[in-house]
Amino acid sequence: MRYIDRDEIARRLTYDRCIPIVREAMIAFSTGETRQLLRSILPLSEGRLFGVMPGALGAHKAFGAKILSVFKDNAAKGKQSHQGVVLLFEPDGGEPVCLLHAGEITAIRTAAASAVATDALARKDAKRLTILGTGEQAITHARAISKVRKLETLVFWGRSAEHAQRLANKMHDELGVETVVAPTTRVAVVDADIVCTVTSAVESIMEGKWLRPGAHINIVGSSYAGPVEVDNDTVTRARFFVDSREGVIAQGAEFLNAKKAGLIADNHIVGEIGEVLAGKIEGRRAADEITAYKSLGHIVQDLASAWALYAQND
Ligand code: NDP
Repeated sequence: MRYIDRDEIARRLTYDRCIPIVREAMIAFSTGETRQLLRSILPLSEGRLFGVMPGALGAHKAFGAKILSVFKDNAAKGKQSHQGVVLLFEPDGGEPVCLLHAGEITAIRTAAASAVATDALARKDAKRLTILGTGEQAITHARAISKVRKLETLVFWGRSAEHAQRLANKMHDELGVETVVAPTTRVAVVDADIVCTVTSAVESIMEGKWLRPGAHINIVGSSYAGPVEVDNDTVTRARFFVDSREGVIAQGAEFLNAKKAGLIADNHIVGEIGEVLAGKIEGRRAADEITAYKSLGHIVQDLASAWALYAQND
């Protein structure tokens, strides 16, 4: 069986390639072409999870599963937070044909999905991007979002100012844009056109009242019911979109918190990003509207990326 390692994925799964792949996958997801089960998450111990995500790109298309660990403290050891494999089956004889490094696919496809949502929902003139968090997803989000908007300033906030400064220097060198380190999440958020929350925080680190009219926020860091990154105001103030309606109603922690507080019902979810991309639901309706995209992450994003790397020779 073929193995596609981390280096090969980093080299071949560019954002220019992955963003359209994820866009198509999310349309297929929302039109019911793909199949997937809700992810299973087995808690191992505090901050250590084991996840299994099975799915298929269509009735007669490639299928497979992502099997991975998510260890919260790995970054301090210089390791990826998500580690494991994507196992790909081909659709004709149902044979397993390829294993791929799951950490690298996850790092890239998650940011590509946020870029797709940002492209669909953020104002066209958005130029100031704020990233809360300084880990792997912070890097990939800076790279991916800069593909869909002409950014002038990148603002970073991290609970470690040193990590934030290192990241700001790195992205300045790489992307050639102005980078700023914000001392607090409030300072980071108040002037932002686009905000991405990509931390492993378990309690809210920002308040929705800080978002300025017209802002767009991608809420990415919590991918199961439990930890939250943003407060109820962030959810209730926004025209609220999700990657999967079923997924967020079952596992979207920030949405569930606001619902539990009696502030919203399931119909607060305007729609899935795939429905917006397919032209079935209106995305942003006004320049001063606040839009939000709640990302849980989906196996079809991994499988579509994996199949492209396996099936295409380049
Ligand atoms: P990393 O471990 O590389 O980075 C985590 C970041 O979160 C670090 O900057 C860390 O700060 C920060 N952080 C941790 N705890 C807190 C806290 N209490 N308050 C503020 N910041 C905190 O992880 P990744 O970048 O790979 O992933 C980031 C998050 O995104 C994770 O929670 C992960 O599970 C999630 N994720 C979501 C996906 C999706 O599809 N929606 C897919 C992949 C990841 P410090 O440097 O100080 O430790």
